[in-house]
Amino acid sequence: MASGSLSVLVVVVFIAGGIAVATPPTQQAANLSRSGSSTHITHPAGRHVKGMKTDTNVLAGVIDFHAHTGPDVEPRLVNDLQLVRLAKQAGMRAIVLKSHFMPTADRAELAMEEVGGIEVFGGIVLNRSIGGLNAEAITRMLQLDGHRGKIVWLPTVDAEHIVGNAPGHRPFISVVKDGKPVAELDEIFKIIAKNNLVLETGHSGPEESLILIPAAKAAGVTKILVTHAMALGATVDQLKQMAAMGAIIECCWLGYLTKPDAKTGAGPVEIAAKLDECAQAIHVVGAQHFLISSDMGLKNYPLHTDAMKAFMAALKARGISNAEIDLMTRKNPAKLLGLVP
Ligand SMILES: [Zn+2]
Repeated sequence: MASGSLSVLVVVVFIAGGIAVATPPTQQAANLSRSGSSTHITHPAGRHVKGMKTDTNVLAGVIDFHAHTGPDVEPRLVNDLQLVRLAKQAGMRAIVLKSHFMPTADRAELAMEEVGGIEVFGGIVLNRSIGGLNAEAITRMLQLDGHRGKIVWLPTVDAEHIVGNAPGHRPFISVVKDGKPVAELDEIFKIIAKNNLVLETGHSGPEESLILIPAAKAAGVTKILVTHAMALGATVDQLKQMAAMGAIIECCWLGYLTKPDAKTGAGPVEIAAKLDECAQAIHVVGAQHFLISSDMGLKNYPLHTDAMKAFMAALKARGISNAEIDLMTRKNPAKLLGLVP
């Protein structure tokens, strides 16, 4: 992984440079004009980005729907500003910032104002740190300046599906009881529907998601993303059911990498067999029902931008077409975020 660590070094130098030479406010205004809460932005795919290497063209217009950044409760590879600058430089269209513990709508606004020329979104994960299934937390997020909060994730690290069956388990949050969504979700689904937000299933199990999706739809929710469904155990048959109900299925690059080896210093490597399964699922269920994202941000893993490139290349090598990649990295995520696909 010598070349990997070299590229990280180069990137760090680039990032440091980016911090030193901040874009002047007047140029930011030129990059981005706003009217009310809506934002008009030049599509990065149609624009030459100065200093862009030809090999980064594959990311033009691409959206990463699952980006972990610092500041966080664990060390992160890059912070919000570093990632957004990097993504803009690569010609990407948008980034969705995700924290398991704190809202990211405010940070998204700050990063977007500061960098300019790229869409940045955030949201809130309904884990214990914000009070669990807490409708008030979503309502307040929606009032934040800039209105960049577009995603509500059901519990992730505190989900019953993750914590509940572990020996000596810690407190967890249930989203389904006796085959029905818990009562607290009634109001939450209503807020999501009323504000046209994206409901993500978080770390709910596939059986739970198959109960949550129709209930959310009945409450008026139209945008549903099943968070890295296959990594949580969804079978192809379950993916087909989710897709038939209109949900989009997420696949994250993190799920297709081995863990880095702390002893040898070896970096993560692609798991070919799992990628074969992913490509097969996309082929069988249909790319129109999927989006792919990075879930990067951990130390000793690739940068988000490199992860997106690697994911696209790995799927292409398995027979997924450019048109299908376009659906999963540009059109489907754009639709969910309310951008013109
Ligand atoms: Zn994640």
